[in-house]
Amino acid sequence: LVLLREGRAEFWAPDPAKYNDPARAPVFYNRYMARNRTISTLVLSAFSELKGGPLVVCEPLSATGIRGIRYALETKAVERLILNDISSQAVDLIKKNLELNGLSAEVYNEDANILLRRLGRQCDVVDLDPFGSPAPFMESAFQAIRDGGMLCATATDTAVLVGNYKDKALRRYGVRLFKTPFYVEVGLRALLGYIARVAAANDFAIEPLIAYWERHYFRVCVAVREGAREASDVLRRGLAYIVYLGGIRRVARRETAHSLGPLWVGPLGEPDLVARLPRPQEDRSAVELLNTLTAEYTTVSPWYYLSQEFGDLKMEVRELIDLLLSNGVYATPTHMAPYGFKADAPYGELYLILSRDIGRWQL
Ligand code: SAM
Repeated sequence: LVLLREGRAEFWAPDPAKYNDPARAPVFYNRYMARNRTISTLVLSAFSELKGGPLVVCEPLSATGIRGIRYALETKAVERLILNDISSQAVDLIKKNLELNGLSAEVYNEDANILLRRLGRQCDVVDLDPFGSPAPFMESAFQAIRDGGMLCATATDTAVLVGNYKDKALRRYGVRLFKTPFYVEVGLRALLGYIARVAAANDFAIEPLIAYWERHYFRVCVAVREGAREASDVLRRGLAYIVYLGGIRRVARRETAHSLGPLWVGPLGEPDLVARLPRPQEDRSAVELLNTLTAEYTTVSPWYYLSQEFGDLKMEVRELIDLLLSNGVYATPTHMAPYGFKADAPYGELYLILSRDIGRWQL
């Protein structure tokens, strides 16, 4: 074990230098997830302010405990912290790390599904941070969460969610997918669509607060409200298919040829909430990410475009967006692709605007 620091926490973890693949270490710790934990800490804090008080927070897949420990140390959001891991080695380490940070928490050594079901409706926040897919724990999470709570989930099975493994996407998430130029957004929306359906099966409606992607994972935090009618309304408005063919995209209420889905087609996040999150100045790329998310959550189209879909444009994405804006088309950058942009206009309209410009640049 080595003593590490992350945020305000100090904690023991298997030496990252010794275990290239953290999944092979006796207890899991992935330092490349630090930004995920930092952003989650900010979201938890903002959510508790929104709710007007501290919360019961359960992290049923805790490993070293670093996530829950940072929540307790860095926010005023935690009234009761429930940590758990199926590995007894992890549980020993969680206890040691809690003590090191002068914190107390309930620590369990159970299967996450059993713990969540046993807890019943006691949790304001359930944070699922598993190996791979959160799907095996989703149903139980909606048994543990109470009205007005928040569900957070990380998914590292990004290849499945973006449509690289069609059969697996259908089995695990109940979605038909194929690869598109906007595959990162398809992945986020497949995950959110799945969460919305499991929530609805348990009479909960979801409202995404933040949803984003980084190279190796998807992360979403959704507010949940109990109510059968609201759950049905959200499903009706929020779930649909995206038809994609030859650059053209459209939303369809029913499955058709060339359609992906069902996918979440509602907002990916709350721009006002993300705008208000304090910017972690020590992590410039987290600041950039939060700024981009704030902008792109103000668009409505459930996809992005890549600049190369419009030919060989000799323009920076920023210039391209300015050109669209000056032509009356609302557009923003997207964190999901460096050469991508969000735009609330059909492909054909964008093509007309941009192709005029191609002409100008090629002359
Ligand atoms: N949340 C941690 C963090 O931020 O560092 C990382 C969690 S790690 C990706 C997943 C953990 O889930 C592992 O420690 C593993 O032992 C535990 N786990 C796997 N299956 C489980 C189950 N069915 N119930 C409870 N814990 C489980």
